[in-house]
Amino acid sequence: MDQVLNSLGLSKSNPGGFAGAWLGSGKAQTVVSPIHGEPLATVANVTPQEFDAILEKCHLAYATWKLVPAPKRGEVVKAIGDELRRHKGALAELVTLEMGKTLREGLGEVQEMIDICDFAVGLSRQMYGLTMPSERKQHRLQEQWHPLGVVGVITAFNFPVAVWSWNTALALVCGDTVLWKPSSKTPLTAIACTKIAEKVLRDFGFDPAICSLAIGRGSDIGDLINTDPRVALVSYTGSVPGGRHVGRLVQERFGRLILELGGNNAVIVSEKGDLDIALRAIYFGAIGTSGQRCTSTRRVILHESIYAAFTERLQALYRKTTIGNPRLDENLMGPLVDAGAVDTMLEAIEKVKAEGGRVLLGGERLQRPGGCYVTPCIVEVDGNIPMVKEETFAPVLYLMKYRTFEEAIALQNGVPQGLSSAIITNDQRESELFLSAAGSDCGIANVNTGTSGAEIGGAFGGEKETGGGRESGSDAWKAYMRRQTTAINFSGRVELAQGITLEL
Ligand code: NAD
Repeated sequence: MDQVLNSLGLSKSNPGGFAGAWLGSGKAQTVVSPIHGEPLATVANVTPQEFDAILEKCHLAYATWKLVPAPKRGEVVKAIGDELRRHKGALAELVTLEMGKTLREGLGEVQEMIDICDFAVGLSRQMYGLTMPSERKQHRLQEQWHPLGVVGVITAFNFPVAVWSWNTALALVCGDTVLWKPSSKTPLTAIACTKIAEKVLRDFGFDPAICSLAIGRGSDIGDLINTDPRVALVSYTGSVPGGRHVGRLVQERFGRLILELGGNNAVIVSEKGDLDIALRAIYFGAIGTSGQRCTSTRRVILHESIYAAFTERLQALYRKTTIGNPRLDENLMGPLVDAGAVDTMLEAIEKVKAEGGRVLLGGERLQRPGGCYVTPCIVEVDGNIPMVKEETFAPVLYLMKYRTFEEAIALQNGVPQGLSSAIITNDQRESELFLSAAGSDCGIANVNTGTSGAEIGGAFGGEKETGGGRESGSDAWKAYMRRQTTAINFSGRVELAQGITLEL
């Protein structure tokens, strides 16, 4: 453990703020690993005064960073990607130690960081604007993209490093600076990433405050980010209630927003689908990251003709789940992030039982050091009963039946969230309907693959209560820039649009 911390430049006690220099004289918190309940290190929060100084430096750094040519900014992001390659193993270990996902998934998460850096390097030469035909003679109409300012990146515990990188790699090539407020449950990984960015920025001779950090409680440091006009864009990843609060505050000052909130993701399994594929996709989607992915599979909508046999097979697979230390390859499922998350899961199961849900298997707390281990749970329900409409951030999977395809789509769409969805079918008509305007209402709609495991190349995000934000690939970069429309007149006279004349 010490070796992992040392190799990433962390000590037993760490300041939680950075803007060119490390600082933090607020309350210190002890970071405890959910793997065994043992302390890893302490982190000192920043005070509101320190936060103000951090934001000021990050804002000042923007004034020069925005003037650096985008491909040069891309070189910096390339070097950050290379540093991440060097530290991949250690950073993945730290992710596992701090939030409890399996090492396999931790490695995948760091790979995602590397991938988005590569993507952003290419992007740094491709932030194209359009030109449009002007309705006026000898005029040119075009749009161009300019940097936006400081991006406040507020992240959830479950992807403690990837979400920062999705935002930061894009923000940096777009000419923005970044002020990161990570989850208080995962401050060590945030310090490690910031140290990696710090080294690269110093090596290039740039102001390291370009990638700043402020660790502290959401209710104080988070709200300072939400309300400060020096933060041009708030990119918030977290729960729906959190997003509703952040959204209101940022909107009030007309700040820009990217909201990446909770999901309630379903897989429709058609009787015409490959049930082996369905089984694997659903199993990984439901128990991966111990059900703590925003894209975790939470609902399975099964055709009534295959319901009984498929449910049997799924239960048999669940019974084989190896649960334990996520650093060991033999375990498929690690702990939940903390004992509070276990309590929330058990309470949710009681509530769903009270609403008529029938627990088929699992849903128990395991007596292990740290108290964060559970058995994954399968519950049979009659459609989207009230608890099913809520995101329980734990390995609880709801199974329900459908008769007609229209009914399956209605069940899939019948929840307030709209992040990820999938259909398992070999019937092209069904898959096309699912992908059509009459089909899934989610930001992500997959065919013959599960709800979780998005690639960085696509824009990531969801609709309805998931918040509508998009980050990562495709043209998500546009949210990090200011669009400017320009009309250039080379006619030598003044002509108004829409044929309006002004006689002088
Ligand atoms: P959370 O809402 O408890 O916390 C998220 C972040 O918000 C943390 O950094 C927290 O400190 C901060 N915060 C708290 N109060 C704040 C305030 N007043 N102002 C600003 N920030 C504040 O979420 P969590 O438990 O860490 O993560 C799980 C949730 O995140 C789930 O709902 C999950 O679906 C969602 N999530 C969504 C995505 C996505 O891309 N859609 C990705 C990962 C996680």
